[in-house]
Amino acid sequence: MRPTGKLHLGNYMGALANWVKLQDSAQYESYFFIADWHALTTDYADPSRLKLNTIDVALDWLAAGLDPEKSTIFIQSHVPQHAELHLLFSMITPLGWLERVPTYKEQQENLSGKDLSTYGFLGYPLLQAADILLYQAQYVPVGQDQVAHVELTREVARRFNSMYKTGVFPEPDALLTPAPKLTGTDGRKMSKSYGNTIGLTESPMAVFQKIQGMSTNGQRVRKTDAGDPDLCPVGDLHKIFSTPEVNSFIQHGCRTATNPCESCKSEAAKSVCRVTGPIHDRRDHFSSRIEETWEMLQDQAVKAASRAEETMLQVRSVLDLSRDLGAVKRHFMATEEDRQRNHDLSLHADWWKLPYNQRAGLLRDYWRNNLVPLEIQLSQESNRVFTSLDRELEEPFLSAKKKRVFVTTARDISEADAAAPDVWHLRIPARAYEVWTLLCWRKENYWLHDFIVPQKYYSQAFAQAKKLLKKDEEVCLTVRKEDARFLLSIHGSEPVDITELESNDAPLR
Ligand code: SF4
Repeated sequence: MRPTGKLHLGNYMGALANWVKLQDSAQYESYFFIADWHALTTDYADPSRLKLNTIDVALDWLAAGLDPEKSTIFIQSHVPQHAELHLLFSMITPLGWLERVPTYKEQQENLSGKDLSTYGFLGYPLLQAADILLYQAQYVPVGQDQVAHVELTREVARRFNSMYKTGVFPEPDALLTPAPKLTGTDGRKMSKSYGNTIGLTESPMAVFQKIQGMSTNGQRVRKTDAGDPDLCPVGDLHKIFSTPEVNSFIQHGCRTATNPCESCKSEAAKSVCRVTGPIHDRRDHFSSRIEETWEMLQDQAVKAASRAEETMLQVRSVLDLSRDLGAVKRHFMATEEDRQRNHDLSLHADWWKLPYNQRAGLLRDYWRNNLVPLEIQLSQESNRVFTSLDRELEEPFLSAKKKRVFVTTARDISEADAAAPDVWHLRIPARAYEVWTLLCWRKENYWLHDFIVPQKYYSQAFAQAKKLLKKDEEVCLTVRKEDARFLLSIHGSEPVDITELESNDAPLR
């Protein structure tokens, strides 16, 4: 939501009320942010009220029931990864895609008082795409007018994934929010620019006064005239906020001229205040704790940034922008000692905290880029686009001789268990691969052991294990360190010594 100051009933019914419902359903992990950078795409000439407007929106959100215990609520500009991803997307997005977004021309015409022939304004749907894809979101709760933006987001995700043969970005779906018809006090669409709004957190007195002064859109000019509540903005308020009993009483009273407009409007105000009254009180509560609220927003930004960084680690790695020297190092460091040093991953200690699949993806790429000798070119099957990281991890690499090399990494945190510091559990799909690479990472010293295992070491035990498995089950492997030896056991089979296979790339050649 862009920070346009205090929210009105239209904002509440069109989006916020639904967000609170989504949050409380606990069906989704939700992220809500105040889009202050987006505000600058149209209001760059006068940023003087940007922070105040941002805080106003935050207070209204909290008052309406968004809860930092249940959702992540933050200010966009406090998570710089939004800007980084936007910049990277701008490299691959054709101009025509942005010029074709329907709101581009429309908004330029609607806001003719502002010069919107800027680079930032043209790119705002792309910033939205970055906002969404940064969290690898599956759904975006939007109104009908934003569906084209979600579609652009899907196209950007598809283009990135296919261009770089990756599955970093899922294609999100729009979660359509039904927006009930809510007119302003003058009968036009409720909008700040028309000055016809009823504020979400206005006092009950102010709400009463505004509704009493509301236009009836030409209905019941004389008290004795019958009217049509479907054509009157007050009738709309009743449909949204009143109980079915009050609503049917009002409908009847209007159509038969038995209930005066004044009383109909008082009833409407009561119904609205039943919803907005508690929100108004909570807003007072949060307004008196402005520093706490600001601190909460900072903490929430840290939480959002940590999730965003998980995505950016993958994006930077795909674009060869990761923060380590990576494969380049091998052009400068060619000795065996240097290669040995590449097994030390202490610089990547933060990978340890990532979910298993993301960590596995990074370890797999790291191994291929840093530990496999340069002249061994492991390739991925060409033109393959992965729809998810899981699928990508299931894909083997191909050696120059077209051998299928399956790379698996220590499956779970148990490898760091103090009671069993030298045991790793790994899994392999029950399919045919000519070479296995087992990557076992030790948390105590961040040392990566890589065992390159040719088929003859496992074919028998693997065939036995497969017979015992149900469809789609994986074969479990255990690597155990005893003294200076490493022993591999396949699905509980007799262990075989694989010590000499560590970093021994003969099977890849
Ligand atoms: S009775 Fe109510 S719905 Fe009918 S015209 Fe008057 S204000 Fe509108």
